[in-house]
Amino acid sequence: MAKKMPAANREMPYTVQLSPRGVARLQGGHVWVYRSDVNAAKDLPAGALGGVTDARGEFLGTALYSTSSQIAIRMISREPVADLPALIAQRIRAAIGYRKRVVANSNAYRVVFSEADLLPGLIVDRYNDVLSVQILTQAMDAEPLRSAVLKTLVEELEPAGIVERVDPRIRELEQLPLRKSGLCWGEKSSTVITMNFRNSGDAAGQPGVRFHYEGLEGQKTGAFLDQRENYAEAAQYAHGEALDVFCYQGGFALHLAAKCSTVTGVDSSRPALEMAEKNAALNGRELEWIEGNAFDLLKDYAAVRRQYDTIVLDPPAFAKNKQDLEKAMRGYKELNLRALKMLRPGGVLVTCSCSFHVSSQAFTEMVAEAARDAHRVARVLESRGQAKDHPILLNVPETSYLKCLVVTVR
Ligand code: SAH
Repeated sequence: MAKKMPAANREMPYTVQLSPRGVARLQGGHVWVYRSDVNAAKDLPAGALGGVTDARGEFLGTALYSTSSQIAIRMISREPVADLPALIAQRIRAAIGYRKRVVANSNAYRVVFSEADLLPGLIVDRYNDVLSVQILTQAMDAEPLRSAVLKTLVEELEPAGIVERVDPRIRELEQLPLRKSGLCWGEKSSTVITMNFRNSGDAAGQPGVRFHYEGLEGQKTGAFLDQRENYAEAAQYAHGEALDVFCYQGGFALHLAAKCSTVTGVDSSRPALEMAEKNAALNGRELEWIEGNAFDLLKDYAAVRRQYDTIVLDPPAFAKNKQDLEKAMRGYKELNLRALKMLRPGGVLVTCSCSFHVSSQAFTEMVAEAARDAHRVARVLESRGQAKDHPILLNVPETSYLKCLVVTVR
C-alpha cells in the first residue's frame, strides 16, 4: 500500500519517481527497478540513497540508486531510512544470525547473499578465518558504507583477514574506478576450510572434506559454496567408479572419494586441477584428474563404451542471458544424454545447472528428454537447489539459480 510521504522522507535529499510499471514491480514484491521504469531521478549522484515515489509523489520506500546500471534502483526498505550505515550493520548481523541457524557442519559458507539478505550489492563468504567480500554497486562501494561493512564483519566474525574480490567487469558496468583484488583487513588471505563434517562425539562422526582456500587466486570466490549440501547428498548415493565432469577444484570428486572405488575429475582449467590435486593430498586421497574439454571427452569415452556407476555434471552457466537459452539447452542435453548412456544399471547421475535463465522445470524436462533418448528409465532420488546459506527470496526470482537433480537409472 502506498503511504503519504512521511516527514523523514521529505528530509531525504533525493527522490526517485517511478513509472506505473516500476510501481507495479515493487508492488509485486521485487526489489529492482530498471532504468526504463524510472520517470525522474533528477540530479541523483552515483550510489545515492533516495526516497522512491509513484508519479503522484506517494512514498513507496527507500532505495539505493545507480547512475549507470540497467538496474537503476535497488530497494533497501519500505520505510524512510535515516541512518544507512546503521541499517546495513543491522542487516549484516541478521544475516550472520540466519547462518547460525542453517549452517552446522562447515566453516565455509556464504554470510551475505546480496538481495536475498536485503543487502543489495554485497556478497560475503566465510572461509574459515578468512572472509571474502564482493562489492557490486556504486552505493556499497561508497564511504561510509564500505567502512561500515568491514567494521561490522570484523566485530561479529573476528576474521584473521578480509579479502576483497574485484570483478573488473562489474566495476566497469557500475562506472566505478578500477580497483585491484587484495587484502582489505588483517594479514591472512589463504586458509584451509572443512565442510560436511559431523561431530566426532556423534555415532556418525565424520571428519568432513578439506579444501585449500586461496583468497587471491582461482575464480569466483574461491569455491562453489552453493553446492556444499549437494556434495554431501551426492556422496550418499555415490558408488563404484565415479566421474566428476567440470570438477573445478574437486568439490564433488573429493566428497565422492569416501564412497567410490575410483574417482576421475575432468576440467578444462589446469590451475583448477592443480588445486584439486592439492586438495586430494590434504584429504589423503588419490584421484585421477584429466585436463580436457568435457564435451570431447564424453564423446570419446562414449565411443569406446566407457562405463561408470556415478557421474556428476556441474557445468558453468551456459545461458548467461535469455538469448543464449536455446543453445544452452542443447549443450545441457548433449552432456546429460552422453552421461546417461554411460551409466551402468543402478548408476547415479548428479546433474546441475547454475543458469538462472534455465528454470527448474525446463531443466527437469531436459533431463527427462535425455533419459528418453538414451533409452533409460530414470528415477529421481533428489531434486535440489542451492545450499541454505544462499537464501531465496520468493518474489525475487533471480535469487534462485541452482538446480541439482540426482537420478538413478536402469
Ligand atoms: N563442480 C565444481 C564447480 C564447477 S564450475 C565444484 O563444485 O567446485 C565449472 C567448471 O567448468 C570450471 O572449473 C571450468 O574450468 C570448467 N569448464 C568450463 N568449460 C569447460 C569445458 N568445456 N570442459 C571442461 N571443463 C570446463
